[in-house]
Amino acid sequence: MAETRATGGCQCGAVRYAVVPPFIKPSICHCRMCQKAFGAFYAPLAGVPLGRFKLTRGELAIFKSSDPVERGFCRDCGTPLTFRYLVEDEISVSIGSLDDPAIAKPVIQYGIEGRVPWLGEIEALPGAITEAPGSEERADYIKRTNHQHPDHDTDRWPAP
Ligand SMILES: [Zn+2]
Ligand SMILES: [Zn+2]
Repeated sequence: MAETRATGGCQCGAVRYAVVPPFIKPSICHCRMCQKAFGAFYAPLAGVPLGRFKLTRGELAIFKSSDPVERGFCRDCGTPLTFRYLVEDEISVSIGSLDDPAIAKPVIQYGIEGRVPWLGEIEALPGAITEAPGSEERADYIKRTNHQHPDHDTDRWPAP
């Protein structure tokens, strides 16, 4: 694949993938199946034709949430990675697993019958950056002992 590809993978780095944008209708899905699968209020997903997706490290573990649907995740760390209707020539990746999630801006919401009623209020909540004053010691400890794969491909992982 050429340099137009985008990369991503799971938190632990056991599974890495590459896709070639443009993405097909990036979305968020509020349905209960997606909420469960992601452990989140909604699932952010961005599709590409099957031929524009390839695994570059490891293998997907698969859970069939229904007969025609496969959800791929990392067996080692549990990160939700892919969603696929088996009858379609398309696979979606979880937007949060992309090395740069900002490249896939959602354009539609699905499953809105499952949307949590206070979702729109979240944007107005008070916010704090990760390394907020008062927790510098803990932030430093987390940074020094970080097991998360970096947001780019690596030749060897875990790093030597
Ligand atoms: Zn993993
Ligand atoms: Zn859904």
